[in-house]
Amino acid sequence: MKIAVYPGSFDPITNGHLDIIYRAKEIFDKIIIAIAVNSSKKTLFTMEERKELIQKVIQNRKELNGNVEVEIFTGLLTTFAKQVKATAIVRGIRAVTDFDYEYAIYQVNRELAPEVDTVFLLASKKYSFISSTIIKEVARYGRVLDEYAPPEINDALLKKFGHRE
Ligand code: ADP
Repeated sequence: MKIAVYPGSFDPITNGHLDIIYRAKEIFDKIIIAIAVNSSKKTLFTMEERKELIQKVIQNRKELNGNVEVEIFTGLLTTFAKQVKATAIVRGIRAVTDFDYEYAIYQVNRELAPEVDTVFLLASKKYSFISSTIIKEVARYGRVLDEYAPPEINDALLKKFGHRE
């Protein structure tokens, strides 16, 4: 069974992330969405909230049931990948601006664990401008867009910013 980890902050998960997950699951048998605990990054949703939201999104989509899971991890990504028997890391690249950072992380991960390779998927045109940061900025002012995030996430964003009960 080919397992891949898809790491990120997912604060919150967007349709851009989901697009990568749907495409990665065509390549791998199982995708483990790995929420990174990053103390230097201030997040809108807590780790547990982000995990619950992703779980809700997975549960509500039959085609993701059984082959997509979500976990929180601390420490090195390569250590976590080996723990869960993943042979690959999946990352999405939206624009050239993502590239330098991703390339550096890739090189370090390769040094740390040569047996865990990284697969980069280029963002689909429709989602190439979508980021968690952008959807949070829009939701802060009470607006959400269907093409940016799943309905479960848009609801949670509006609640978080006090625009909905
Ligand atoms: P990080 O803090 O590690 O960048 P994110 O949650 O922002 O975590 O993103 C996780 C991964 O998903 C990264 O590889 C990022 O480039 C990718 N990603 C984010 N948004 C999109 C998108 N709209 N299309 C494709 N990939 C994306």
